[in-house]
Amino acid sequence: MASLSSKNIDLQVDLGSRLSPSASVVLPGDANFANLTSRWREWRAPTIAAVVQVATEDDVQQVVRFANEYDLPFIARSGGHGATEAMASAKDAIQIDFRKLSQVELSEDGKTAIIGGGATVKGVVEALGKLGKQAVTGICESVGVSAPILGGGHGWLQGQYGLPADQVISARLVLPNGDAVTVSEESYPDLFWAIKGAGHNFGLITEWKYRVYDIKNAKWSYEIFVFSGDKLETLYDLTNEMIKTQPPQVTHWTYITKVADIDPEHPIIWYAIIYDGPAPEARQYAKPIHAIEAIMVNAGEATIPELAVLTFQDENGPGCAKGLTSLRYPIGLKSYNTASVRKVYNEIDETFRKVPELAGSFFLLEGYSTQGVQAIEEASTAFPHRSDEVLVTSYVQYKPNESIDAAAQGFGKKLRNYLLEGSDDPDHLRAYVNYANGDESLQEVYGWEEWRLEKLRKLKQLWDPENKMCYYVPII
Ligand SMILES: Cc1cc2nc3c(=O)[nH]c(=O)nc-3n(C[C@H](O)[C@H](O)[C@H](O)COP(=O)(O)OP(=O)(O)OC[C@H]3O[C@@H](n4cnc5c(N)ncnc54)[C@H](O)[C@@H]3O)c2cc1C
Repeated sequence: MASLSSKNIDLQVDLGSRLSPSASVVLPGDANFANLTSRWREWRAPTIAAVVQVATEDDVQQVVRFANEYDLPFIARSGGHGATEAMASAKDAIQIDFRKLSQVELSEDGKTAIIGGGATVKGVVEALGKLGKQAVTGICESVGVSAPILGGGHGWLQGQYGLPADQVISARLVLPNGDAVTVSEESYPDLFWAIKGAGHNFGLITEWKYRVYDIKNAKWSYEIFVFSGDKLETLYDLTNEMIKTQPPQVTHWTYITKVADIDPEHPIIWYAIIYDGPAPEARQYAKPIHAIEAIMVNAGEATIPELAVLTFQDENGPGCAKGLTSLRYPIGLKSYNTASVRKVYNEIDETFRKVPELAGSFFLLEGYSTQGVQAIEEASTAFPHRSDEVLVTSYVQYKPNESIDAAAQGFGKKLRNYLLEGSDDPDHLRAYVNYANGDESLQEVYGWEEWRLEKLRKLKQLWDPENKMCYYVPII
């Protein structure tokens, strides 16, 4: 693919003249270029030659057509939290910046909303919340809503209503050739299937028609525990029992990390029960956990934005902090193999001592409920991991420092391997595409059933034969 700098193009004029009045072309050297291109992970980020802040669907089409005319790479940007190997192969790309397309409009019957392709979790939660509504979104406030949906997605409400991808009634999709289509069960059903799990490969979303629900409880409940490492076996043996009957409104959620103020020597286990319901019900559910001696317990009720703060997933929280090198190595599990989680804990403990630069990393175990997810037929979307009960990944994080990149990668892979070896199927890793490091096989990310990849490859050949959409865990 050609680079912008090698062409004699005046983007402001040649492309700008094709755009709506609210769109803008921002070039390196412009005052807000650095801000617009900043990312959760700057390490191995795409290199951007120009940003186009699109304001209409037609703008998106114009940019795609322009890029194709001049054989230039383009890449979408919504929340800026994407972090996977292939993004680094976008060189001198046009960043199609979706943040102006962030409308949230409730339908008259209150059952659906039109949500812009560039909306963030925070924007959607706030806009719907004002109307007494909620939707299944991811948790981190700064993450875009679209990318999670395109990869299936995970969030607090999935036990009750299904994955983010399951909420889509239709979507407006700008295809890699610049045409715009509506995809739904009735219109381009194969593409509709593909964008719910492997969507990064197929086009650009300008808007979703998305299911929304009444807010049942203005305040949710939380029971947060901090345990020392020696409680690990008791905790995960118990959690394995509790998962078997975990109600749809519950999530259990763990960080294994170092908090020197609490334990200067070893990592702690930060463990939360998040509950869509009143505090007494949550307390009743969490009762067995209270029997394990904790260093700290903090329980109460909170709105969804407050829960984001409590779980470090608010826009100013450490989970969203920018500028670090961050590596993720996801794995889906059916349950916890306690012996494997012990190996993970010990490895973290040892590594933080040996490589102190990595001591700001954390290990995340997300135990969302799955009733709503598993109520949907496994083959009906491109999301391949519906039967997993737990989603786990390390967040290996450190100030950019090339000298420890190799150690950090080895560390993250080792942790995942411990869990894989102790999993229900050690030969078949299942890795959530939106967390994928990018070195996983296509089967690991898009599913082990042969028909899945076959179908995806055929669709790719049909809809993106020139492989323009290739910067997020590409199928080819
Ligand atoms: C701190 C943190 C918390 C997270 N929490 C969750 C969570 O709760 N649930 C969950 O499911 N995932 C979560 N994720 C993973 C998240 O889904 C991915 O990192 C995702 O890629 C981020 O999307 P973004 O819009 O923020 O990033 P961006 O970098 O803007 O986008 C990433 C990629 O998504 C695609 N994309 C974005 N917008 C569009 C669009 N409008 N049309 C087509 N393609 C588009 C493009 O391929 C783009 O390269 C989290 C990630 C982080 C870093």
